[in-house]
Amino acid sequence: MTPTKRIAAAAAFFCVASASALADGETAPGRDPKQPVDNAYTEKIHKYTTQPYFTSPLVDYLPASKTVPTPQVVLGDVSGAPAILPYAEDVYKYMRLLEKATPRVKVFSIGKTEEGREMIAVAVSSEENIKNLEENRARLSKLADPRIIKLDDAEADKLVAQAVPIYYITGTIHSPETGAPTALMELAYRLAVDESPYIKEIRDGTITLITPVVEVDGRDRMVDIYKWHLSHPKEFFPWLVYWGKYVAHDNNRDAMGVTLKLTENVLNTYVDWKAQVMHDLHESVPYLYDNTVGDEPYNAWIDPILADEWQIIGWNNVSAMTKFGMPGVFAHGDFDTWSPGYLMFIAAMHNGISRLYETFGNGGADTEERTLQPEEYARTWYRQNPPLPKVLWSQRDNNNYEETGLLTSLHFFNENKRMFLKNFYLKAKRSTMKPTAEGPAAYVLPADDPRSGLQTELLQVLQRQAVDISRAKSAFTVTLPATKSKDSGKGKDKMDKDEKAEPPAPTTREFPAGSYVVRMDQPYSRIADALLDHQYWSPDDPQKTPYDDTGWTFGELFHVQVTRVTDTKVLDVPMDRVEAIRASGGVKGDGTVFAINNNAEPALATLRYRLKDAAMEAAEESFESAGKKFNRGSFVLRNVNRADLDRAASDLGVQVTALSATPSVKTHPVRAARIAFVHTWLSTQTEGWWRLALDKLGIPYDYMSTQAIEKIPDLNAKYDVILFPPVGYNAGVNTVVNGIPTAWGNPLPWKNTPETPNLVGKNDSTNDMRPGLGWEGVARLQEFVQGGGVLLTATDTSSLALSLGFADGISVQNANKMKIVGSVVGTRLVDDASPIAYGYDEKGAAYCDNGPIFSLSSIAGQRGRRRLGPEMHARPTGRGSMDDPDFTVGRTGVEAPEEPKSETWESPPVIDEQKRNGFRVIPPAIRPRVIFRYADGKDLLISGLVEGGDEIAQHPAVVDAPAGKGHVVLFSINPVYRGETWGTYSMVLNTILNFDSLNADRKDTAEAK
Ligand SMILES: [Zn+2]
Repeated sequence: MTPTKRIAAAAAFFCVASASALADGETAPGRDPKQPVDNAYTEKIHKYTTQPYFTSPLVDYLPASKTVPTPQVVLGDVSGAPAILPYAEDVYKYMRLLEKATPRVKVFSIGKTEEGREMIAVAVSSEENIKNLEENRARLSKLADPRIIKLDDAEADKLVAQAVPIYYITGTIHSPETGAPTALMELAYRLAVDESPYIKEIRDGTITLITPVVEVDGRDRMVDIYKWHLSHPKEFFPWLVYWGKYVAHDNNRDAMGVTLKLTENVLNTYVDWKAQVMHDLHESVPYLYDNTVGDEPYNAWIDPILADEWQIIGWNNVSAMTKFGMPGVFAHGDFDTWSPGYLMFIAAMHNGISRLYETFGNGGADTEERTLQPEEYARTWYRQNPPLPKVLWSQRDNNNYEETGLLTSLHFFNENKRMFLKNFYLKAKRSTMKPTAEGPAAYVLPADDPRSGLQTELLQVLQRQAVDISRAKSAFTVTLPATKSKDSGKGKDKMDKDEKAEPPAPTTREFPAGSYVVRMDQPYSRIADALLDHQYWSPDDPQKTPYDDTGWTFGELFHVQVTRVTDTKVLDVPMDRVEAIRASGGVKGDGTVFAINNNAEPALATLRYRLKDAAMEAAEESFESAGKKFNRGSFVLRNVNRADLDRAASDLGVQVTALSATPSVKTHPVRAARIAFVHTWLSTQTEGWWRLALDKLGIPYDYMSTQAIEKIPDLNAKYDVILFPPVGYNAGVNTVVNGIPTAWGNPLPWKNTPETPNLVGKNDSTNDMRPGLGWEGVARLQEFVQGGGVLLTATDTSSLALSLGFADGISVQNANKMKIVGSVVGTRLVDDASPIAYGYDEKGAAYCDNGPIFSLSSIAGQRGRRRLGPEMHARPTGRGSMDDPDFTVGRTGVEAPEEPKSETWESPPVIDEQKRNGFRVIPPAIRPRVIFRYADGKDLLISGLVEGGDEIAQHPAVVDAPAGKGHVVLFSINPVYRGETWGTYSMVLNTILNFDSLNADRKDTAEAK
């Protein structure tokens, strides 16, 4: 066949599925008859598309251009061709070739990743639009911030009529989801060269902005792995254990804390361009699921206009692709839109439209048979043309779906751009009017918060979110609404009391000058409100499987005071907008002894490591000096160069007081412990957040895998503390100790080879990822603890340490009905003398995701009794009443001895019977010491979902278990998580700094006989 004939045949072949009749005024999707076609490329598209219905008239040909190169020049084949995955660098190379070849494309560098790789954004539009980007930005800026035009709707209408909207597409944030880069290369080409009316309309009316690779570090690793697979076709290939430097899949949960470079770079791009849409591409569902429509509950802080826009665009997508005859396109499913942590939510929280596709990927570029589960191919009300049970699926099929979905979206968006631009303005206006609409008027962070460093960290999160922060020039007072009692309405007694009591009255609160005010009369009030407010997910919600965390209240998790103020008078307080926010620090006063108050601020640990040769001590009691009160755990420094200390303290925002004399208080040394940080080869996701936190704080550690432990003959000689953060992946004895089976299959290397030059980066390497900690490794860890080391574990590694017998007197209970899905829960300080508690308040908050539930026992090898709330001490059946005891006929009555009582978090007292020949009774001095516990049932929920919380209420949350000469410190909460839990970081840091004084002030009295 001649090329022309082949195309004609192919066109006929592909036409079967497409609709040809058009509604009035509708632009035909597909090739214009006059449009020249790149025949060779088009033929390849057909060849790699596995079924005629896996494509559309929009992508079943490639327009030809005499001047603009196709993706083939870089890829060596067409987009979506088998066995081809480009590195980010190749994708950029192509985008820059486009930029050179046509004035319709411009490439922008938008920042670097943690490992120094570049991120880009590619603008594609008409030559005129590209030329006028700045002018257009000025118009969009006024719509984005209606304060500039004084909320003048008529002025906004003029701008809406003139502005060119921006549709921002982001690809491959999830590295094993590999299709987006090639789809986006081809999409950019099509948008730049195709002269069909359908594409021309998009090009002339809208600016398409593309970041083809979001997780650049992970992309390069993924391409490495795929190349390794291609050169070892018969072998199993290593899984992608590292994506970015720190986290894997969670890189799409960072849009609250903005701790990763990729989030920051994309957020800045979105906000700087004043884009209307952000559309993030994923691949985990057959064949195209627009999960922005998703399911309930929707995030409580989004504008209903946005919820409506999701439906409008999403269902139009389904409609358009249904008409093309493409199966498996749908817009409703199991994704709830509650958490604002997803990358796309940057748009939702900044008055744009967030969108997300899940298309179908093969995790590489192999063409493979794929078999679906019944629930995946079921026909449902929202999926009338479902996916097929079994298909041959190619990367090209995936690219066809991605491009077709995007092109129909772009076209529909462009057709309705005046509405969407107007909505963009309206959402910004409604955000700005929040104080007088739904409220609140502001959030206030008081100038006298003792945790000024943590306050600064929180304010900096808001600033990264482009939120304006102001500072009050004088003291001010606001009225706070009356708070309803928690118990009101519950129980008859309470009701009686409430009837008599006065109704609760509003109160006032005074804030000192210098307090920070987050005004809600600003366009980005929405994100500030969503982060600072409280969340409530009802246990009765019809949605039983939250997709992600249900609570995140930043003030609570940072242990910083945040007051929600509805009183609009707060906006009249004289205040200045602040640019850079820094906690003030440095040395004040006269003297050669220095004291630093301890409020559990992480900067103290940074200071300890920065001045690593200085002698620092911790006061074991609170004390007063130089007219100031210092909390227990405050640092006392002697023989330190004042200038050095002042420099470091100023830099870190730590306030130091010079004292004329050493305070008379018992102290112990605070040391810069030598830290080993252990990861598995199963998953590095959850520990990655711990690494990120330590790196940010400048706390050094040796990073090693579980495999490395057995090779270190004397761990105690090298390390003081071993951190074993959560694994987050089925971290049982079998997986962590035994690893992945090695009895069959080939070794799975994670190291740099000719095929995998980017694998290692700045992380770790191994010849075979399969072996685990091993029993030798377990023995080494045991020796380390017995020999005086401190092992710190959290959530699943705590359960692991207990099942390996590292600590006695603690057991883990299974939950029956408890459901705490990534929530903020209340904690209580139990033992304020423990160095782990230094600087903490009696009441606190922590992140909890279903425990584990710890129970204590003083009997070695015994499981703690499972207890729900207070014990029932009922008398046996007999005569009398509850309090009036039984008799025995014919015998003088005998009173039963008082049963010893204990609290839920304590181990039950050792009873007389257990003391008889009590060789299993753990001596008091080496019993586990509970430092923090979970709050009582009624106070457990702070934010999120807590169902059946009584199972964990009052149980230990942080326990220090002596073992041999050392300690195992076990966390049930996760103290270091997604850059959101700064308030609990110091529980870990205190353990590190006081590793050799953890027994300070132990109360080992009670029944110590
Ligand atoms: Zn994904």
